[in-house]
Amino acid sequence: MQCQCIQHFGQPLASEQRPDMTPTGTEVILEVVAAGVCHTDLHMREGGVDLGRGERLNYADRGIKLPLTVGHETVGRVIAAGPDAGEIDMSRTYVVFPWCGCGDCELCRRGDENLCATPRYLGIHVDGGYATQLRIAHPRYLFDIGDMDPARAAPLACSGLTTFSALKKLEGSYFEQAPLLIGAGGLGLMCIRLLAALGAQAPVVADIDPAKRAAALEAGAVAVIDPADPEVLQQITHACGGRPPRAILDFVGAEATAKLAFDALPRNGKLVTVGLFGGAAPWSLPMITLKSVHIMGSYVGSLTEFAELIEIARTGAIDAIPSTLFPLEQAEETLNLLEAGKVLGRAVLSPAAR
Ligand SMILES: [Zn+2]
Ligand SMILES: [Zn+2]
Repeated sequence: MQCQCIQHFGQPLASEQRPDMTPTGTEVILEVVAAGVCHTDLHMREGGVDLGRGERLNYADRGIKLPLTVGHETVGRVIAAGPDAGEIDMSRTYVVFPWCGCGDCELCRRGDENLCATPRYLGIHVDGGYATQLRIAHPRYLFDIGDMDPARAAPLACSGLTTFSALKKLEGSYFEQAPLLIGAGGLGLMCIRLLAALGAQAPVVADIDPAKRAAALEAGAVAVIDPADPEVLQQITHACGGRPPRAILDFVGAEATAKLAFDALPRNGKLVTVGLFGGAAPWSLPMITLKSVHIMGSYVGSLTEFAELIEIARTGAIDAIPSTLFPLEQAEETLNLLEAGKVLGRAVLSPAAR
């Protein structure tokens, strides 16, 4: 098998040849068909995330072992299964739930493996999908994609699930008005599609990049906003129907976007922060109290949410976000394109692409 892996943090991915995988116990081996490329993969290659205030989260200090094959948005076909894996339909194509936990603790047993204190996320703690083969610990992580195009199904494992889980934190009255989304990258575009699939109002979308704003309009945003505009807050209120947005999703997670989101939030509004760009919170503490706002984080999603999302996606209700296929061997170049902000929608690696 072949994989594109991190041998040293801060250096380009390296191509490695390894022996073919063999499963034990409940393990399943997949032949990779499509592997989505996510911003988190850039952080992995870099070896950490900026926490703001001069602090940094270093993956090496967090026990992430190298070499590591990144990639957590994987679609593949089962080529082998261990003796305890049970019955698996080998004729199907599966998208893999990558946010695996220990499987044993209380959180894991209720399906919240993504919140497990000893995570075994694919492409982060254990080898992921930038490879021709992928090992998963148990068949419960496999979800049949039905008739979906693999390049379209792969991003559901991260950008799809992340936005779905974030939207789940905003149900009810928060959807009575158009929400504001900040960032029209893979997550933002996916969110526009999901809002439509869930029958919610089309969002207002803010992004500094005119090409991304155009993509957001194309995807169904009701209006787009340039955060660099000096009258940005008035524009947001106007675009949201004359009232500030009660619900804001920040898919960037930078100091500038956190500030914009907080300033745009009315009393009792809710900000769900999803992006991991980096930095520290720029909010005034008294204003959090005075505005009685809700600020919460949302990281990936649960197995139950993933099952629900795949069911919706299989009906065809979620329009595909634009995706571009790249050969697996070009993983490093693809990461560089993403880093330079030159990927619209999702980049997907495919061992079969040339
Ligand atoms: Zn991701
Ligand atoms: Zn656990």
